[in-house]
Amino acid sequence: DPAALVQALFHLGEMVTATQSVPDETLQVLGSELNYEIEVVSPEDEDRELLESFDIEFGEDTGGEEELVARPPVVTVMGHVDHGKTKLLDALRKTNVVAGEAGGITQKIGAYQVSTEVDDQERKITFIDTPGHEAFTAMRARGAKSTDIAVLVVAADDGVMPQTIEALNIARAAEVPVVVAVNKIDKPGADPSKVRGQLTEYGLVPEEYGGDTMFVNVSAITRDGLDDLLEAIVLTADAALDLRANDSMDSQGISIEGHLETGRGPIATVLVQRGTLRVGDSIVAGPAHGRVRAMINDAGESVKEAPPSMPVQVLGLTAVPGAGDSFLVVSDDRTARQIADRRSARLRAAAQAAGARRKTLDQLFEQLEKGEKQELKLILKGDGSGSVEALEEALSKIDVGDEVALQVIDRGVGGITETNVNLAAAFDAVIIGFNVRAQGKASELADRLGVDVRYYSVIYAAIDEIEAALKGMLKPVY
Ligand code: GDP
Repeated sequence: DPAALVQALFHLGEMVTATQSVPDETLQVLGSELNYEIEVVSPEDEDRELLESFDIEFGEDTGGEEELVARPPVVTVMGHVDHGKTKLLDALRKTNVVAGEAGGITQKIGAYQVSTEVDDQERKITFIDTPGHEAFTAMRARGAKSTDIAVLVVAADDGVMPQTIEALNIARAAEVPVVVAVNKIDKPGADPSKVRGQLTEYGLVPEEYGGDTMFVNVSAITRDGLDDLLEAIVLTADAALDLRANDSMDSQGISIEGHLETGRGPIATVLVQRGTLRVGDSIVAGPAHGRVRAMINDAGESVKEAPPSMPVQVLGLTAVPGAGDSFLVVSDDRTARQIADRRSARLRAAAQAAGARRKTLDQLFEQLEKGEKQELKLILKGDGSGSVEALEEALSKIDVGDEVALQVIDRGVGGITETNVNLAAAFDAVIIGFNVRAQGKASELADRLGVDVRYYSVIYAAIDEIEAALKGMLKPVY
């Protein structure tokens, strides 16, 4: 009962209204006051629990030491604007062709792999094809660890700039080792040793000065130093990281890009982090699911398998996952659909809790409270004329005093339609669905118009909620 909660908080010295958000700590205090144990759960925890209920562990290499094989490093290019991140990524992509990999014509899928020879060994490197640290931080914010190494691009003619330092701090916070690409060395005013001196002041000391950071002079235009840069990345990975993954388990990883393509449906580029992804696998990616129908690599070729650190486009999903969404292979299509359904439901609930829907009811109550509005308008929809009548009768008996009035402006049997939603929008009404759901695009329309639709399956729950909300809104009497 919101009114009771408001009162309890009042006694704890917190003045709040029934629709106000309170910090976690206040909730904890309120909980212990009322003898409840409050557990604050993050979306990540919730997802982990969801997967655990299907006996799936995400993000852990399962299997023993002997099942781990070396995997290529995954690299993000960061640095100040105009220092040449995009040009460098383009130039590096072409080393693929130089290395003589099949296909020749590369396709932009959001990430690509190049090969380089280090100590007579063929080594691969995966580049995330989105320059800048925004994508990096966005994925990071969602708990996705996409990057092993950051290449910090600094233009030799411009030197260290604010975003250079910002990118450096982000890489440090993520505990990702940095390789510095001193770019534009072909330019007349280039002063690569100045860049080294500047970054030394920020604690990034070049190897040649006795530090442990590799600096490489490059030109994205003349292609000078590109092979050295690739070698520096491999050497840094070998020295600082133990990049191994189990390649035989069910595949897991992250989605890094996605879009809808006419004729082909949702297309997502995923980066395999563990296991080997195969055509035919049942997969969940964020709230999307499906069976991998085909996979396309960065050379535009169709492939049947993708081992750890390999980016591939996946066809066959039901929807487009977001950048940073995790993906995982599960035992069968049914499990995939169940997990995806649970995730979508949760996303919808979260959006609902945070967004327009609740705000409208809250706003209405707020207006009621302020005396700007004296009535709450309702539209009732139910599964039978008997239940709609019963609901309306029960609602009419709510004693809300003289200050406000409840008015049912429309009622009917059947699902909630777009017409109902439009009417509700026009009159600032709330829609009550009793044992019925929204039909067709009605739910979408309600979201767009900010119409509050509430669903109930028992009459007293509907009555209780409306009564409690109304009373919570009326001026508290102590
Ligand atoms: P970003 O904002 O860091 O992605 O920078 P861009 O890759 O868009 O490059 C900015 C400008 O610098 C463009 O005009 C590039 O052609 C130019 N540029 C990039 N790398 C080099 C280089 O190595 N040498 C020269 N001379 N120009 C470069």
